[in-house]
Amino acid sequence: MRRIAAHYIFPIAGPPIRNGIVTLDDSGAVLDLSASSGELQESEGVEFYSGALAPGFVNAHCHLELSHLKGAIPQGVGLAGFIASLSAHRNAFSDEQALRAANLADAQLYAAGTVAVGDISNRELTFGVKSGSPVFYHTFIERFGLRREDVAQGAHSAQKLAEAAAKLGLTASVTPHAPYSTQSEMYEALAQGGIWSVHNQESGDENLLFEKGRGALCELFLSMGLPPVPPTGKPSIYHTLRHVAEGQRLLLVHNTYTSANDYDAAAARCKSISWALCPASNLYIERALPPLRMLRAKGADIALGTDSLASNASLNLLDELKLLAKHFPDIPLSEMLRWATLGGAAALGRQHILGSLEKGKRPGVVHLSNLDLDKLKLTPETKSRLLTRKNSYICQ
Ligand SMILES: [Zn+2]
Repeated sequence: MRRIAAHYIFPIAGPPIRNGIVTLDDSGAVLDLSASSGELQESEGVEFYSGALAPGFVNAHCHLELSHLKGAIPQGVGLAGFIASLSAHRNAFSDEQALRAANLADAQLYAAGTVAVGDISNRELTFGVKSGSPVFYHTFIERFGLRREDVAQGAHSAQKLAEAAAKLGLTASVTPHAPYSTQSEMYEALAQGGIWSVHNQESGDENLLFEKGRGALCELFLSMGLPPVPPTGKPSIYHTLRHVAEGQRLLLVHNTYTSANDYDAAAARCKSISWALCPASNLYIERALPPLRMLRAKGADIALGTDSLASNASLNLLDELKLLAKHFPDIPLSEMLRWATLGGAAALGRQHILGSLEKGKRPGVVHLSNLDLDKLKLTPETKSRLLTRKNSYICQ
Protein backbone atom coordinates (compact mmCIF):
# COMPACT_ATOMS: atom_id res chain seq x y z
CA MET A 1 0.00 0.00 0.00
CA ARG A 2 1.17 3.58 -0.71
CA ARG A 3 -0.10 6.86 0.68
CA ILE A 4 0.91 9.80 -1.56
CA ALA A 5 0.23 13.40 -0.55
CA ALA A 6 0.65 16.84 -2.12
CA HIS A 7 -0.52 20.45 -1.73
CA TYR A 8 -3.31 19.64 -4.20
CA ILE A 9 -4.82 16.56 -5.78
CA PHE A 10 -6.74 16.79 -9.05
CA PRO A 11 -9.00 13.71 -8.91
CA ILE A 12 -10.66 14.82 -12.22
CA ALA A 13 -13.94 13.17 -11.17
CA GLY A 14 -14.36 15.98 -8.61
CA PRO A 15 -12.92 19.39 -7.65
CA PRO A 16 -9.25 19.79 -6.59
CA ILE A 17 -8.52 18.63 -3.02
CA ARG A 18 -6.25 20.88 -0.96
CA ASN A 19 -3.71 19.00 1.18
CA GLY A 20 -4.87 15.77 -0.38
CA ILE A 21 -3.77 12.19 0.18
CA VAL A 22 -4.37 9.34 -2.25
CA THR A 23 -4.07 5.76 -1.02
CA LEU A 24 -3.21 3.00 -3.49
CA ASP A 25 -3.16 -0.76 -2.93
CA ASP A 26 -0.23 -2.89 -4.11
CA SER A 27 -1.80 -3.28 -7.56
CA GLY A 28 -2.04 0.51 -7.92
CA ALA A 29 -5.82 0.60 -7.50
CA VAL A 30 -7.13 3.70 -5.76
CA LEU A 31 -8.42 2.78 -2.29
CA ASP A 32 -9.15 6.21 -0.89
CA LEU A 33 -8.89 9.97 -1.42
CA SER A 34 -8.89 12.30 1.55
CA ALA A 35 -7.93 15.79 2.70
CA SER A 36 -5.72 16.55 5.67
CA SER A 37 -6.94 19.19 8.09
CA GLY A 38 -3.41 20.51 8.69
CA GLU A 39 -0.32 21.22 6.61
CA LEU A 40 1.04 18.02 5.16
CA GLN A 41 4.62 16.86 5.28
CA GLU A 42 6.62 13.72 4.78
CA SER A 43 5.85 11.38 7.66
CA GLU A 44 5.81 7.70 8.49
CA GLY A 45 3.80 5.96 5.82
CA VAL A 46 3.11 9.12 3.79
CA GLU A 47 5.13 10.30 0.78
CA PHE A 48 4.77 14.05 0.35
CA TYR A 49 5.35 15.98 -2.90
CA SER A 50 5.39 19.74 -3.27
CA GLY A 51 2.87 20.70 -5.96
CA ALA A 52 -0.03 18.63 -7.23
CA LEU A 53 -0.97 15.06 -8.12
CA ALA A 54 -3.07 14.05 -11.10
CA PRO A 55 -3.98 10.79 -12.86
CA GLY A 56 -1.58 9.53 -15.55
CA PHE A 57 -1.81 11.37 -18.88
CA VAL A 58 -3.58 9.78 -21.85
CA ASN A 59 -2.30 11.02 -25.21
CA ALA A 60 -5.19 10.55 -27.64
CA HIS A 61 -3.23 11.10 -30.85
CA CYS A 62 0.35 10.24 -31.70
CA HIS A 63 2.38 8.66 -34.52
CA LEU A 64 5.31 6.94 -32.81
CA GLU A 65 6.50 5.66 -36.20
CA LEU A 66 7.27 9.24 -37.35
CA SER A 67 9.49 10.07 -34.33
CA HIS A 68 12.67 10.13 -36.45
CA LEU A 69 11.31 13.10 -38.44
CA LYS A 70 11.75 15.52 -35.54
CA GLY A 71 12.85 18.87 -36.98
CA ALA A 72 12.95 17.52 -40.57
CA ILE A 73 9.87 19.35 -41.85
CA PRO A 74 9.71 23.17 -41.98
CA GLN A 75 7.11 24.99 -39.89
CA GLY A 76 4.16 26.99 -41.20
CA VAL A 77 3.94 25.39 -44.65
CA GLY A 78 0.27 24.41 -44.33
CA LEU A 79 -1.16 20.90 -44.52
CA ALA A 80 -0.49 20.39 -48.25
CA GLY A 81 3.13 21.54 -47.82
CA PHE A 82 3.49 19.29 -44.77
CA ILE A 83 2.19 16.22 -46.63
CA ALA A 84 4.48 16.92 -49.58
CA SER A 85 7.49 17.30 -47.27
CA LEU A 86 6.52 14.19 -45.28
CA SER A 87 6.33 12.16 -48.49
CA ALA A 88 9.76 13.43 -49.53
CA HIS A 89 11.37 12.58 -46.16
CA ARG A 90 9.54 9.39 -45.29
CA ASN A 91 12.01 7.00 -46.92
CA ALA A 92 15.16 9.04 -46.26
CA PHE A 93 15.76 7.20 -42.98
CA SER A 94 16.49 3.54 -42.25
CA ASP A 95 14.20 1.35 -40.16
CA GLU A 96 16.96 1.26 -37.52
CA GLN A 97 16.89 5.06 -37.25
CA ALA A 98 13.10 5.06 -37.05
CA LEU A 99 13.10 2.37 -34.36
CA ARG A 100 15.76 4.11 -32.28
CA ALA A 101 13.74 7.35 -32.36
CA ALA A 102 10.51 5.52 -31.49
CA ASN A 103 12.14 3.81 -28.50
CA LEU A 104 13.50 7.11 -27.22
CA ALA A 105 10.14 8.87 -27.69
CA ASP A 106 8.34 6.05 -25.85
CA ALA A 107 10.75 6.28 -22.89
CA GLN A 108 10.41 10.07 -22.74
CA LEU A 109 6.63 10.19 -22.82
CA TYR A 110 6.45 7.51 -20.11
CA ALA A 111 8.86 9.37 -17.83
CA ALA A 112 6.82 12.56 -18.26
CA GLY A 113 3.65 10.91 -17.00
CA THR A 114 1.91 9.31 -19.99
CA VAL A 115 0.26 5.97 -19.20
CA ALA A 116 -1.73 5.45 -22.40
CA VAL A 117 -1.54 6.53 -26.04
CA GLY A 118 -3.80 6.32 -29.09
CA ASP A 119 -1.12 5.68 -31.67
CA ILE A 120 -1.39 5.64 -35.46
CA SER A 121 0.49 2.95 -37.37
CA ASN A 122 0.74 2.47 -41.11
CA ARG A 123 3.13 -0.46 -40.74
CA GLU A 124 4.38 -3.00 -38.19
CA LEU A 125 7.71 -1.34 -37.38
CA THR A 126 6.85 0.05 -33.92
CA PHE A 127 4.65 -2.84 -32.70
CA GLY A 128 7.58 -4.32 -30.75
CA VAL A 129 8.31 -0.96 -29.09
CA LYS A 130 4.66 -0.64 -28.07
CA SER A 131 4.22 -4.20 -26.81
CA GLY A 132 7.40 -3.95 -24.72
CA SER A 133 6.57 -0.55 -23.28
CA PRO A 134 5.14 0.15 -19.82
CA VAL A 135 2.77 2.53 -21.63
CA PHE A 136 -0.59 1.14 -22.83
CA TYR A 137 -0.98 1.70 -26.57
CA HIS A 138 -4.17 1.38 -28.56
CA THR A 139 -2.98 1.11 -32.16
CA PHE A 140 -5.01 2.69 -34.94
CA ILE A 141 -4.07 0.94 -38.18
CA GLU A 142 -4.51 3.70 -40.70
CA ARG A 143 -5.29 3.46 -44.38
CA PHE A 144 -5.46 6.05 -47.17
CA GLY A 145 -7.34 5.22 -50.35
CA LEU A 146 -7.79 7.64 -53.21
CA ARG A 147 -7.60 5.05 -55.97
CA ARG A 148 -10.47 2.57 -56.15
CA GLU A 149 -8.12 -0.18 -57.32
CA ASP A 150 -6.08 0.13 -54.07
CA VAL A 151 -9.04 -0.37 -51.71
CA ALA A 152 -9.19 -4.18 -51.50
CA GLN A 153 -5.43 -4.59 -50.98
CA GLY A 154 -5.32 -1.68 -48.46
CA ALA A 155 -8.15 -3.13 -46.37
CA HIS A 156 -6.65 -6.63 -46.52
CA SER A 157 -3.18 -5.47 -45.39
CA ALA A 158 -4.77 -3.44 -42.58
CA GLN A 159 -6.53 -6.57 -41.34
CA LYS A 160 -3.24 -8.50 -41.45
CA LEU A 161 -1.59 -5.75 -39.39
CA ALA A 162 -4.44 -5.91 -36.84
CA GLU A 163 -3.80 -9.65 -36.49
CA ALA A 164 -0.05 -9.04 -36.04
CA ALA A 165 -0.82 -6.46 -33.33
CA ALA A 166 -3.15 -8.89 -31.53
CA LYS A 167 -0.43 -11.57 -31.50
CA LEU A 168 1.77 -9.15 -29.56
CA GLY A 169 -1.02 -8.37 -27.11
CA LEU A 170 -1.75 -4.91 -28.55
CA THR A 171 -5.33 -3.69 -28.92
CA ALA A 172 -5.91 -2.28 -32.41
CA SER A 173 -8.59 -1.03 -34.77
CA VAL A 174 -8.42 -0.20 -38.46
CA THR A 175 -9.28 3.37 -39.41
CA PRO A 176 -9.55 5.70 -42.40
CA HIS A 177 -6.85 8.41 -42.37
CA ALA A 178 -8.85 11.52 -43.30
CA PRO A 179 -11.74 12.51 -45.56
CA TYR A 180 -9.43 14.20 -48.09
CA SER A 181 -7.30 11.05 -48.50
CA THR A 182 -9.99 8.39 -48.40
CA GLN A 183 -12.62 7.49 -50.99
CA SER A 184 -16.04 6.19 -49.92
CA GLU A 185 -15.11 2.62 -50.91
CA MET A 186 -12.17 2.63 -48.48
CA TYR A 187 -14.32 3.99 -45.62
CA GLU A 188 -16.76 1.14 -46.26
CA ALA A 189 -13.98 -1.46 -46.42
CA LEU A 190 -12.66 -0.31 -43.02
CA ALA A 191 -16.03 -0.39 -41.23
CA GLN A 192 -15.11 -3.18 -38.79
CA GLY A 193 -16.82 -1.88 -35.66
CA GLY A 194 -13.69 -0.78 -33.76
CA ILE A 195 -12.81 2.81 -32.83
CA TRP A 196 -12.09 5.09 -35.79
CA SER A 197 -9.48 7.81 -35.35
CA VAL A 198 -9.91 10.20 -38.28
CA HIS A 199 -7.89 13.36 -38.97
CA ASN A 200 -10.59 16.00 -39.35
CA GLN A 201 -10.62 19.56 -40.73
CA GLU A 202 -6.95 20.10 -39.98
CA SER A 203 -6.71 22.71 -42.71
CA GLY A 204 -8.95 25.26 -44.43
CA ASP A 205 -7.83 23.66 -47.71
CA GLU A 206 -9.52 20.45 -46.63
CA ASN A 207 -12.91 22.16 -46.47
CA LEU A 208 -12.17 24.02 -49.71
CA LEU A 209 -11.45 20.73 -51.49
CA PHE A 210 -14.87 19.35 -50.55
CA GLU A 211 -16.84 22.57 -50.87
CA LYS A 212 -15.41 23.86 -54.14
CA GLY A 213 -13.09 21.19 -55.55
CA ARG A 214 -10.00 23.42 -55.47
CA GLY A 215 -7.19 24.65 -53.23
CA ALA A 216 -3.69 23.48 -52.24
CA LEU A 217 -4.70 19.90 -51.31
CA CYS A 218 -6.52 19.48 -54.61
CA GLU A 219 -3.44 20.70 -56.50
CA LEU A 220 -1.14 18.46 -54.45
CA PHE A 221 -3.08 15.30 -55.28
CA LEU A 222 -3.24 16.18 -58.97
CA SER A 223 0.52 16.79 -59.00
CA MET A 224 1.01 13.35 -57.42
CA GLY A 225 -1.16 11.75 -60.09
CA LEU A 226 -3.91 10.96 -57.57
CA PRO A 227 -7.63 11.55 -58.17
CA PRO A 228 -8.89 14.00 -55.48
CA VAL A 229 -12.08 13.06 -53.64
CA PRO A 230 -15.02 14.51 -55.63
CA PRO A 231 -16.41 17.76 -54.14
CA THR A 232 -19.69 17.54 -52.25
CA GLY A 233 -20.43 21.22 -51.60
CA LYS A 234 -20.14 20.62 -47.83
CA PRO A 235 -17.21 20.75 -45.36
CA SER A 236 -15.00 17.66 -45.23
CA ILE A 237 -16.43 16.30 -41.96
CA TYR A 238 -19.62 15.25 -43.77
CA HIS A 239 -17.62 12.77 -45.86
CA THR A 240 -16.66 10.96 -42.64
CA LEU A 241 -20.11 11.26 -41.06
CA ARG A 242 -21.76 9.73 -44.11
CA HIS A 243 -19.84 6.50 -43.48
CA VAL A 244 -20.14 6.23 -39.70
CA ALA A 245 -22.05 3.10 -38.71
CA GLU A 246 -24.65 2.90 -35.95
CA GLY A 247 -22.88 2.69 -32.58
CA GLN A 248 -19.46 3.55 -34.06
CA ARG A 249 -17.08 5.22 -31.59
CA LEU A 250 -15.35 8.09 -33.32
CA LEU A 251 -12.20 9.99 -32.43
CA LEU A 252 -11.99 13.14 -34.55
CA VAL A 253 -8.47 14.59 -34.51
CA HIS A 254 -7.46 18.26 -34.93
CA ASN A 255 -10.85 19.88 -35.78
CA THR A 256 -8.99 23.15 -36.34
CA TYR A 257 -11.50 24.34 -38.95
CA THR A 258 -14.66 22.78 -37.47
CA SER A 259 -17.60 25.19 -37.19
CA ALA A 260 -20.47 25.14 -34.70
CA ASN A 261 -22.74 23.85 -37.49
CA ASP A 262 -20.29 21.05 -38.27
CA TYR A 263 -20.22 20.13 -34.57
CA ASP A 264 -24.03 19.97 -34.41
CA ALA A 265 -24.21 17.78 -37.52
CA ALA A 266 -21.61 15.40 -36.06
CA ALA A 267 -23.35 15.21 -32.67
CA ALA A 268 -26.68 14.46 -34.39
CA ARG A 269 -25.12 11.69 -36.50
CA CYS A 270 -22.92 9.96 -33.93
CA LYS A 271 -23.52 9.54 -30.20
CA SER A 272 -19.95 8.74 -29.22
CA ILE A 273 -17.43 11.32 -30.44
CA SER A 274 -14.21 12.42 -28.76
CA TRP A 275 -12.76 15.66 -30.12
CA ALA A 276 -8.98 15.32 -29.91
CA LEU A 277 -7.02 18.56 -30.12
CA CYS A 278 -3.31 18.82 -30.97
CA PRO A 279 -2.62 22.55 -30.56
CA ALA A 280 1.19 22.45 -30.84
CA SER A 281 0.98 20.51 -34.10
CA ASN A 282 -1.66 22.92 -35.45
CA LEU A 283 0.65 25.85 -34.73
CA TYR A 284 3.59 24.01 -36.31
CA ILE A 285 1.78 23.15 -39.56
CA GLU A 286 -1.01 25.70 -40.01
CA ARG A 287 -0.10 28.48 -37.55
CA ALA A 288 -3.65 28.08 -36.20
CA LEU A 289 -5.34 26.94 -33.00
CA PRO A 290 -8.47 24.75 -32.66
CA PRO A 291 -11.88 26.37 -31.88
CA LEU A 292 -11.64 25.62 -28.18
CA ARG A 293 -14.24 28.16 -27.04
CA MET A 294 -16.86 26.75 -29.43
CA LEU A 295 -16.14 23.16 -28.36
CA ARG A 296 -16.37 24.08 -24.67
CA ALA A 297 -19.62 25.96 -25.23
CA LYS A 298 -21.05 22.88 -26.97
CA GLY A 299 -20.02 20.60 -24.10
CA ALA A 300 -17.80 18.52 -26.40
CA ASP A 301 -15.89 15.53 -25.03
CA ILE A 302 -12.40 16.95 -25.50
CA ALA A 303 -9.17 14.94 -25.49
CA LEU A 304 -5.59 16.05 -26.14
CA GLY A 305 -2.92 14.63 -28.40
CA THR A 306 0.56 15.61 -29.44
CA ASP A 307 0.53 14.34 -33.03
CA SER A 308 3.99 13.17 -34.08
CA LEU A 309 7.48 14.58 -33.60
CA ALA A 310 7.34 15.48 -37.32
CA SER A 311 5.14 18.42 -36.25
CA ASN A 312 5.93 18.84 -32.55
CA ALA A 313 9.00 19.29 -30.36
CA SER A 314 7.65 17.02 -27.61
CA LEU A 315 5.25 14.13 -26.95
CA ASN A 316 4.56 15.34 -23.40
CA LEU A 317 0.95 16.42 -22.87
CA LEU A 318 2.15 18.88 -20.23
CA ASP A 319 3.63 20.96 -23.07
CA GLU A 320 0.21 21.00 -24.79
CA LEU A 321 -1.33 22.15 -21.50
CA LYS A 322 1.22 24.94 -21.14
CA LEU A 323 0.49 26.08 -24.69
CA LEU A 324 -3.26 26.12 -24.08
CA ALA A 325 -2.79 27.94 -20.76
CA LYS A 326 -0.82 30.64 -22.59
CA HIS A 327 -3.48 31.17 -25.27
CA PHE A 328 -6.56 30.54 -23.09
CA PRO A 329 -5.50 31.80 -19.63
CA ASP A 330 -9.08 31.87 -18.31
CA ILE A 331 -9.58 28.09 -18.57
CA PRO A 332 -9.10 26.41 -15.16
CA LEU A 333 -6.21 23.96 -14.85
CA SER A 334 -8.61 21.30 -13.52
CA GLU A 335 -10.61 21.44 -16.78
CA MET A 336 -7.53 21.22 -18.99
CA LEU A 337 -6.20 18.29 -16.94
CA ARG A 338 -9.50 16.51 -17.54
CA TRP A 339 -8.86 16.67 -21.31
CA ALA A 340 -5.32 15.27 -20.80
CA THR A 341 -6.53 12.35 -18.67
CA LEU A 342 -10.19 11.26 -18.61
CA GLY A 343 -10.89 12.77 -22.05
CA GLY A 344 -8.18 10.62 -23.63
CA ALA A 345 -9.17 7.54 -21.63
CA ALA A 346 -12.75 7.85 -22.94
CA ALA A 347 -11.47 8.33 -26.49
CA LEU A 348 -9.65 4.98 -26.22
CA GLY A 349 -12.53 3.21 -24.42
CA ARG A 350 -10.44 2.90 -21.23
CA GLN A 351 -12.33 5.27 -18.92
CA HIS A 352 -13.33 2.38 -16.62
CA ILE A 353 -9.72 2.02 -15.45
CA LEU A 354 -7.76 5.13 -16.49
CA GLY A 355 -8.19 8.91 -16.44
CA SER A 356 -9.32 9.76 -12.90
CA LEU A 357 -8.37 9.08 -9.28
CA GLU A 358 -11.52 7.18 -8.37
CA LYS A 359 -11.85 4.14 -6.12
CA GLY A 360 -11.08 0.93 -7.99
CA LYS A 361 -9.39 2.58 -10.98
CA ARG A 362 -5.68 2.15 -11.72
CA PRO A 363 -4.87 5.38 -13.53
CA GLY A 364 -1.26 5.93 -12.39
CA VAL A 365 -0.25 9.05 -10.45
CA VAL A 366 1.57 12.05 -11.95
CA HIS A 367 3.42 14.65 -9.89
CA LEU A 368 3.22 18.24 -11.18
CA SER A 369 5.99 20.33 -9.62
CA ASN A 370 6.75 24.09 -9.81
CA LEU A 371 3.08 25.11 -10.03
CA ASP A 372 1.77 28.52 -9.05
CA LEU A 373 -0.03 27.18 -5.97
CA ASP A 374 -1.76 30.47 -5.15
CA LYS A 375 -3.50 30.74 -8.51
CA LEU A 376 -3.46 27.00 -9.22
CA LYS A 377 -1.85 27.59 -12.62
CA LEU A 378 0.97 26.06 -14.60
CA THR A 379 4.20 28.01 -14.89
CA PRO A 380 6.86 27.76 -17.62
CA GLU A 381 8.92 25.77 -15.08
CA THR A 382 6.20 23.21 -14.28
CA LYS A 383 7.41 19.62 -14.72
CA SER A 384 5.56 16.29 -14.79
CA ARG A 385 6.71 12.81 -13.83
CA LEU A 386 5.07 9.50 -13.15
CA LEU A 387 5.23 8.33 -9.53
CA THR A 388 3.81 4.87 -10.12
CA ARG A 389 5.00 1.85 -12.05
CA LYS A 390 3.44 -0.20 -14.79
CA ASN A 391 1.40 -2.52 -12.59
CA SER A 392 -0.63 0.44 -11.35
CA TYR A 393 -2.36 1.03 -14.68
CA ILE A 394 -2.59 -2.29 -16.46
CA CYS A 395 -5.51 -1.85 -18.84
CA GLN A 396 -7.85 -4.80 -18.64
ZN1 LIG B 1 -1.92 12.79 -36.96
